Amino acid sequence: MVKDRKLIIAGNWKMNKTAAEALDLVNGIKRELANVKEVDIVVCPPFTALAGVSEALLNSNIRLGAQNMSENGPGAFTGEIAAPMLKEFSVRYVILGHSERRQFQKEPDDLIARKAAAAHASALKPIVCVGETLAEREANITEKIVGSQVRGSLAGLSRELVEETVIAYEPVWAIGTGKTASAQQAQDVHAFIRGVLSEMFDDATARRVRIQYGGSVKPSNARELMSLPDVDGALVGGAALEARSFADIIRNSI
Ligand code: PEP
Repeated sequence: MVKDRKLIIAGNWKMNKTAAEALDLVNGIKRELANVKEVDIVVCPPFTALAGVSEALLNSNIRLGAQNMSENGPGAFTGEIAAPMLKEFSVRYVILGHSERRQFQKEPDDLIARKAAAAHASALKPIVCVGETLAEREANITEKIVGSQVRGSLAGLSRELVEETVIAYEPVWAIGTGKTASAQQAQDVHAFIRGVLSEMFDDATARRVRIQYGGSVKPSNARELMSLPDVDGALVGGAALEARSFADIIRNSI
Protein backbone atom coordinates (compact mmCIF):
# COMPACT_ATOMS: atom_id res chain seq x y z
CA MET A 1 0.00 0.00 0.00
CA VAL A 2 1.30 3.49 -0.81
CA LYS A 3 0.98 5.84 2.15
CA ASP A 4 1.64 9.55 2.08
CA ARG A 5 3.72 9.23 5.24
CA LYS A 6 7.20 7.78 4.76
CA LEU A 7 7.83 4.72 6.90
CA ILE A 8 10.35 5.18 9.70
CA ILE A 9 11.94 2.06 11.18
CA ALA A 10 14.24 2.50 14.16
CA GLY A 11 16.38 0.03 16.09
CA ASN A 12 16.53 0.52 19.85
CA TRP A 13 19.67 -1.24 20.98
CA LYS A 14 18.87 -0.54 24.65
CA MET A 15 21.74 -1.31 27.08
CA ASN A 16 23.47 -3.62 24.61
CA LYS A 17 26.70 -3.47 22.59
CA THR A 18 30.10 -2.17 23.55
CA ALA A 19 31.49 0.51 21.27
CA ALA A 20 33.36 -2.16 19.29
CA GLU A 21 30.31 -4.44 19.01
CA ALA A 22 28.21 -1.46 17.95
CA LEU A 23 30.60 -0.73 15.10
CA ASP A 24 30.33 -4.32 13.85
CA LEU A 25 26.56 -4.13 13.98
CA VAL A 26 26.24 -0.79 12.24
CA ASN A 27 28.69 -1.80 9.52
CA GLY A 28 26.60 -4.92 8.92
CA ILE A 29 23.40 -2.87 8.75
CA LYS A 30 25.03 -0.46 6.31
CA ARG A 31 26.06 -3.31 4.03
CA GLU A 32 22.59 -4.88 4.13
CA LEU A 33 20.65 -1.68 3.52
CA ALA A 34 22.95 0.43 1.34
CA ASN A 35 20.39 1.00 -1.40
CA VAL A 36 17.21 1.44 0.60
CA LYS A 37 15.64 4.86 0.13
CA GLU A 38 11.97 4.06 0.65
CA VAL A 39 12.19 3.97 4.46
CA ASP A 40 13.76 6.34 6.99
CA ILE A 41 16.18 4.04 8.83
CA VAL A 42 17.39 4.97 12.32
CA VAL A 43 19.70 3.19 14.76
CA CYS A 44 19.77 4.10 18.45
CA PRO A 45 22.91 2.76 20.13
CA PRO A 46 23.84 3.44 23.76
CA PHE A 47 25.54 6.79 24.48
CA THR A 48 28.99 5.21 24.69
CA ALA A 49 28.77 4.04 21.07
CA LEU A 50 27.38 7.24 19.53
CA ALA A 51 30.75 8.66 18.48
CA GLY A 52 31.90 5.55 16.63
CA VAL A 53 28.54 4.79 15.06
CA SER A 54 28.18 8.41 13.99
CA GLU A 55 31.47 8.25 12.11
CA ALA A 56 30.51 4.94 10.51
CA LEU A 57 27.24 6.46 9.29
CA LEU A 58 28.81 9.49 7.57
CA ASN A 59 27.39 9.79 4.03
CA SER A 60 25.05 6.85 4.54
CA ASN A 61 21.28 6.47 4.25
CA ILE A 62 20.98 5.58 7.95
CA ARG A 63 20.29 8.16 10.65
CA LEU A 64 21.45 8.18 14.23
CA GLY A 65 19.21 8.28 17.30
CA ALA A 66 19.79 8.33 21.06
CA GLN A 67 17.75 6.48 23.66
CA ASN A 68 17.14 9.31 26.10
CA MET A 69 18.26 12.83 26.98
CA SER A 70 17.91 15.39 29.75
CA GLU A 71 15.20 18.00 29.77
CA ASN A 72 17.91 20.45 30.91
CA GLY A 73 20.68 22.25 29.10
CA PRO A 74 24.31 21.61 30.03
CA GLY A 75 25.03 22.10 33.73
CA ALA A 76 25.24 20.44 37.12
CA PHE A 77 23.20 17.30 36.39
CA THR A 78 25.46 14.35 37.18
CA GLY A 79 25.02 11.39 34.89
CA GLU A 80 22.77 13.20 32.41
CA ILE A 81 23.28 14.00 28.71
CA ALA A 82 22.09 17.28 27.16
CA ALA A 83 20.76 17.75 23.63
CA PRO A 84 23.79 19.74 22.34
CA MET A 85 26.02 16.80 23.34
CA LEU A 86 23.95 14.57 21.08
CA LYS A 87 24.01 17.10 18.27
CA GLU A 88 27.80 17.01 18.34
CA PHE A 89 27.57 13.44 17.00
CA SER A 90 24.95 14.25 14.36
CA VAL A 91 22.17 12.58 16.31
CA ARG A 92 18.83 13.34 14.60
CA TYR A 93 16.32 11.43 16.73
CA VAL A 94 15.90 10.70 20.43
CA ILE A 95 13.66 8.07 22.00
CA LEU A 96 11.73 9.59 24.91
CA GLY A 97 9.48 7.96 27.49
CA HIS A 98 10.26 4.37 26.56
CA SER A 99 8.19 2.07 28.77
CA GLU A 100 11.36 0.82 30.45
CA ARG A 101 12.14 4.38 31.54
CA ARG A 102 8.53 4.98 32.53
CA GLN A 103 8.71 1.79 34.64
CA PHE A 104 12.25 1.80 36.08
CA GLN A 105 13.04 5.53 36.20
CA LYS A 106 9.43 6.47 36.94
CA GLU A 107 9.38 9.03 34.13
CA PRO A 108 6.00 10.80 34.05
CA ASP A 109 4.30 12.39 31.06
CA ASP A 110 5.10 15.97 32.06
CA LEU A 111 8.83 15.18 32.20
CA ILE A 112 8.62 13.54 28.79
CA ALA A 113 6.87 16.66 27.47
CA ARG A 114 9.71 18.83 28.79
CA LYS A 115 12.26 16.51 27.19
CA ALA A 116 10.37 16.66 23.90
CA ALA A 117 10.39 20.46 24.01
CA ALA A 118 14.14 20.45 24.79
CA ALA A 119 14.79 18.03 21.93
CA HIS A 120 12.93 20.24 19.45
CA ALA A 121 14.77 23.31 20.75
CA SER A 122 17.97 21.60 19.55
CA ALA A 123 16.38 20.37 16.31
CA LEU A 124 16.31 16.74 17.46
CA LYS A 125 13.22 14.77 16.51
CA PRO A 126 11.71 12.98 19.50
CA ILE A 127 10.31 9.47 19.22
CA VAL A 128 7.76 9.60 22.03
CA CYS A 129 6.71 6.17 23.35
CA VAL A 130 3.28 5.33 24.72
CA GLY A 131 1.53 2.08 25.52
CA GLU A 132 -0.60 0.19 28.00
CA THR A 133 0.36 -2.68 30.31
CA LEU A 134 -1.33 -6.07 30.14
CA ALA A 135 -3.36 -5.27 33.27
CA GLU A 136 -4.57 -2.04 31.67
CA ARG A 137 -5.55 -3.81 28.44
CA GLU A 138 -7.40 -6.48 30.40
CA ALA A 139 -9.20 -3.79 32.38
CA ASN A 140 -10.33 -2.25 29.07
CA ILE A 141 -8.60 1.06 29.78
CA THR A 142 -6.12 1.00 26.88
CA GLU A 143 -7.61 4.12 25.25
CA LYS A 144 -7.80 5.99 28.55
CA ILE A 145 -4.12 5.22 29.31
CA VAL A 146 -2.74 5.79 25.83
CA GLY A 147 -4.88 8.91 25.32
CA SER A 148 -3.61 10.50 28.50
CA GLN A 149 0.01 9.56 27.70
CA VAL A 150 -0.29 11.16 24.25
CA ARG A 151 -1.91 14.32 25.64
CA GLY A 152 0.53 14.57 28.54
CA SER A 153 3.73 13.77 26.65
CA LEU A 154 2.99 16.14 23.74
CA ALA A 155 1.58 18.95 25.90
CA GLY A 156 2.71 22.38 24.81
CA LEU A 157 4.01 21.42 21.35
CA SER A 158 2.96 23.54 18.40
CA ARG A 159 1.42 22.01 15.25
CA GLU A 160 4.71 22.50 13.41
CA LEU A 161 6.70 20.68 16.09
CA VAL A 162 4.29 17.80 16.53
CA GLU A 163 4.64 17.09 12.82
CA GLU A 164 8.37 16.68 13.47
CA THR A 165 7.64 14.27 16.33
CA VAL A 166 7.33 10.52 15.91
CA ILE A 167 5.00 8.60 18.21
CA ALA A 168 5.78 4.97 19.03
CA TYR A 169 2.83 2.90 20.19
CA GLU A 170 4.35 0.06 22.17
CA PRO A 171 1.99 -2.13 24.17
CA VAL A 172 4.12 -2.97 27.21
CA TRP A 173 2.93 -6.58 27.15
CA ALA A 174 4.38 -7.02 23.66
CA ILE A 175 7.86 -5.61 24.37
CA GLY A 176 10.52 -8.30 24.48
CA THR A 177 7.91 -10.98 25.11
CA GLY A 178 7.53 -12.43 21.64
CA LYS A 179 3.82 -11.49 21.82
CA THR A 180 2.82 -9.07 19.08
CA ALA A 181 -0.37 -7.07 19.01
CA SER A 182 -2.68 -8.46 16.34
CA ALA A 183 -3.04 -6.36 13.22
CA GLN A 184 -6.49 -5.29 14.40
CA GLN A 185 -5.28 -4.36 17.89
CA ALA A 186 -2.40 -2.30 16.46
CA GLN A 187 -4.54 -0.55 13.83
CA ASP A 188 -7.26 0.26 16.39
CA VAL A 189 -4.86 1.96 18.80
CA HIS A 190 -2.98 3.77 16.02
CA ALA A 191 -6.26 5.14 14.63
CA PHE A 192 -7.26 6.13 18.16
CA ILE A 193 -3.95 8.00 18.64
CA ARG A 194 -4.49 9.82 15.33
CA GLY A 195 -7.92 10.81 16.59
CA VAL A 196 -6.39 12.22 19.79
CA LEU A 197 -3.93 14.21 17.65
CA SER A 198 -6.85 15.59 15.61
CA GLU A 199 -8.49 16.77 18.81
CA MET A 200 -5.27 18.27 20.20
CA PHE A 201 -4.19 19.89 16.93
CA ASP A 202 -6.26 19.41 13.75
CA ASP A 203 -6.99 16.73 11.14
CA ALA A 204 -4.30 17.84 8.69
CA THR A 205 -1.64 17.81 11.40
CA ALA A 206 -2.78 14.42 12.69
CA ARG A 207 -2.52 13.00 9.17
CA ARG A 208 1.10 14.11 8.91
CA VAL A 209 2.38 12.61 12.20
CA ARG A 210 4.14 9.27 11.89
CA ILE A 211 3.10 6.60 14.39
CA GLN A 212 5.39 3.59 14.80
CA TYR A 213 4.38 0.25 16.23
CA GLY A 214 6.75 -1.48 18.65
CA GLY A 215 6.58 -4.79 20.45
CA SER A 216 8.23 -7.98 19.17
CA VAL A 217 8.42 -6.78 15.56
CA LYS A 218 10.35 -9.32 13.51
CA PRO A 219 10.89 -10.16 9.84
CA SER A 220 7.90 -12.53 9.83
CA ASN A 221 5.32 -10.01 11.07
CA ALA A 222 6.72 -6.75 9.66
CA ARG A 223 4.90 -6.86 6.34
CA GLU A 224 1.44 -7.22 7.84
CA LEU A 225 2.01 -4.60 10.54
CA MET A 226 3.58 -2.04 8.18
CA SER A 227 0.76 -2.38 5.69
CA LEU A 228 -1.85 -1.20 8.22
CA PRO A 229 -3.33 2.19 7.29
CA ASP A 230 -2.25 4.03 10.44
CA VAL A 231 1.06 2.24 11.10
CA ASP A 232 3.95 4.29 9.74
CA GLY A 233 6.96 2.33 10.88
CA ALA A 234 8.39 0.32 13.72
CA LEU A 235 10.50 0.68 16.82
CA VAL A 236 12.42 -2.56 17.05
CA GLY A 237 14.25 -3.90 20.12
CA GLY A 238 15.54 -7.48 20.12
CA ALA A 239 15.40 -8.00 16.35
CA ALA A 240 17.47 -4.83 15.80
CA LEU A 241 20.52 -6.36 17.51
CA GLU A 242 21.37 -8.45 14.50
CA ALA A 243 22.04 -6.85 11.10
CA ARG A 244 20.24 -9.47 9.02
CA SER A 245 17.01 -9.50 11.04
CA PHE A 246 16.85 -5.68 11.23
CA ALA A 247 17.49 -5.47 7.49
CA ASP A 248 14.87 -8.16 6.76
CA ILE A 249 12.27 -6.20 8.74
CA ILE A 250 12.99 -3.19 6.55
CA ARG A 251 13.08 -5.14 3.30
CA ASN A 252 9.80 -6.88 4.19
CA SER A 253 8.17 -3.52 4.90
CA ILE A 254 8.79 -1.96 1.49
C1 PEP B 1 11.32 -1.83 22.37
O1 PEP B 1 11.91 -1.97 23.42
O2 PEP B 1 11.15 -0.68 21.94
C2 PEP B 1 10.83 -3.01 21.69
C3 PEP B 1 9.84 -2.87 20.86
O3 PEP B 1 11.44 -4.21 22.00
P1 PEP B 1 11.16 -5.64 21.26
O4 PEP B 1 11.18 -5.39 19.78
O5 PEP B 1 12.31 -6.49 21.71
O6 PEP B 1 9.85 -6.11 21.73
